[in-house]
Amino acid sequence: MNMKARKPIPQAQPKVDLSTAETMKCEQCGSTLWKNAFIIKRISAIVSPNGQEAIVPIQVYSCDGCSKVPSIFLKDIGMEEEIEGDPLFRPDLG
Ligand SMILES: [Zn+2]
Repeated sequence: MNMKARKPIPQAQPKVDLSTAETMKCEQCGSTLWKNAFIIKRISAIVSPNGQEAIVPIQVYSCDGCSKVPSIFLKDIGMEEEIEGDPLFRPDLG
């Protein structure tokens, strides 16, 4: 058996013209820079598939300017509007 045979390396993702794609901006301060953040969900043993409590990290992005996590990330996990950035930040006063 020839163990050297390799599957072809998958090509990179299809080309997308990013110049036409929408740039995601912070809803709160308009920043376009983001940092990695994690929301941690605890799955109780009652609803866990394997009957054991589980800790599930969910990667989201938080604004590099005001730390706001866009609601687009929060809707799917049932915590929209739960995370607040700096409460003293008032873009309308800027
Ligand atoms: Zn922001």
